Amino acid sequence: MSDIDTSIAPDWKTRYLDLVRQQSLESESAFETEKLLCRIIIRLTLATAGLDSALDPHLISLRNAVRKGVQSEMKERLSAISEALIRAKDEPQSDELVESGLLPRLIARSGLTGRNASKLRKLGDVLIAEGDRATDDQIDSFLNLLVHTESGASSGGLLSRLFTSHVKDEGDEQIETPNQRLLALLNRLDWPSQLAQDIKRLELELSVRKDADVWADVLTSLVSLLSASLGDVQSEIHDTRGFLEELTHRLVEIDKHVSSGKALREQSRVDGKVLDQVMKHQVDGMRNNMDGADSLSQLRQEIGKRLDAIESHVGTFMDNEDRRHQEAVSLEEHLRQRLNEVQSESRELRSKMIEAHRQAATDTVTGLPNRLAYEERLEQEFARWKRFGEPLTLLVWDIDDFKFINDRFGHNAGDKALRIIGQNLTLGLRETDFVGRFGGEEFVMLLVGSSSEDSIELAESIRKEVKESGIHSLGNRVEVTISCGLSCFKAGDTTADVFARADQALYEAKKAGKNCVVLK
Ligand code: GH3
Ligand code: MG
Ligand code: MG
Repeated sequence: MSDIDTSIAPDWKTRYLDLVRQQSLESESAFETEKLLCRIIIRLTLATAGLDSALDPHLISLRNAVRKGVQSEMKERLSAISEALIRAKDEPQSDELVESGLLPRLIARSGLTGRNASKLRKLGDVLIAEGDRATDDQIDSFLNLLVHTESGASSGGLLSRLFTSHVKDEGDEQIETPNQRLLALLNRLDWPSQLAQDIKRLELELSVRKDADVWADVLTSLVSLLSASLGDVQSEIHDTRGFLEELTHRLVEIDKHVSSGKALREQSRVDGKVLDQVMKHQVDGMRNNMDGADSLSQLRQEIGKRLDAIESHVGTFMDNEDRRHQEAVSLEEHLRQRLNEVQSESRELRSKMIEAHRQAATDTVTGLPNRLAYEERLEQEFARWKRFGEPLTLLVWDIDDFKFINDRFGHNAGDKALRIIGQNLTLGLRETDFVGRFGGEEFVMLLVGSSSEDSIELAESIRKEVKESGIHSLGNRVEVTISCGLSCFKAGDTTADVFARADQALYEAKKAGKNCVVLK
């Protein structure tokens, strides 16, 4: 029993602390995902405000619930919105315009004033009057006025508010329809890997289906998806918490057994002391008997009694020791079993966590590290660069005219091109270098220990390789080119400074005609 106390106890305590640390890391990552989902929900609720009067109160409650972070309330609000969206879609639009007086409210919320507002009213009145007989031109004029308001995107019309606000700042080119706007928005956001497949499916729906209001279906699916995903994150946290509670319970149990081992030893010590006293008492008695004995036969009798008493005490003590020994052996066995169970569960949990982290840091299309992995690696390399000062270069790559490849050869060919180019980018890199998909058709690279001249030379060779290998669609070779902006870390730089310079260099490469490398 003594080795259990000294060697096993510190070991399981360390493992327990490790697991608690792992749990807190996992919680942080889940928290980040949750933050992203919350941001998206807030953005969607802001963008869709005023679209439908039945939807508005739900959107406000949802936004408040998300800001407060009350999970149960969020779930309830999300399903209410889902219901309201389905109802809104099922109700005939023209009746709704007449009965609820939506047209005046639409005009009020569109941001249009003066002549434009009355023009919108007239066009709306015409649409209501014509009903099913309304021509495409009449519908287009109404929609154009609603989408392209003169007051600009910040306070723009209803639809332009839904699909323009944030995307414009980021330098995207003008996209005409709501479906394309939503597609661009889905593309641009950095989705957690477990949502990637579903988002791809929604993107495909937006690009393939021709009806103008696909965006409404996609938004409905997106809301359910986000709701389900929030549920998943919650249940993962719940599982891990459950495991740690179970672990704590087991460790408390083990502690109890170790304590009972100690109690057994203590009892043995006390019994030993009692036996010692009994022996002493009997020996003293024998001495007195010898001194005061009148005859040899009386002495023999007295001593015989004392020897019987000693024999009986020693026998009881030995029996007790035997029993305690048996108990200690079975306790030790039980303890060993429990420790083995805890050990194998911890190992399982650790490998699950490692796998979950690997998945969360891998891009599903190219198999390369994703933006999350890039950001982790950038921080590590930046810290190393500050400490050791070895040259560090950041390269930002962007495929040229990728939209054309998607439009001309289809989304699957686009994905194939992403995979092939991703592979090309890894060629010629050293083990200490890094390449990952930043998002969309953009990649990032970190070169460690290469001078700016060497980095340019490597970038040039990759650029040529991409151009020469191209992709194949229906047996034809299609040329694809790629542009690169690169920048080296200099004294006083933050990671954001270097990224901004590399991004500016990429912008200049695009302006210079694409398919080139620019250093800044
Ligand atoms: P530029 O040369 O200026 O970079 O033009 P571009 O067409 O490459 O850039 P733009 O930003 O206009 O279009 C990028 C396109 O990349 C739009 C988007 O649909 C597509 N895209 C982003 N992610 C994916 C993806 O995972 N798969 C596919 N197939 N296409 C994607
Ligand atoms: Mg791009
Ligand atoms: Mg591009």
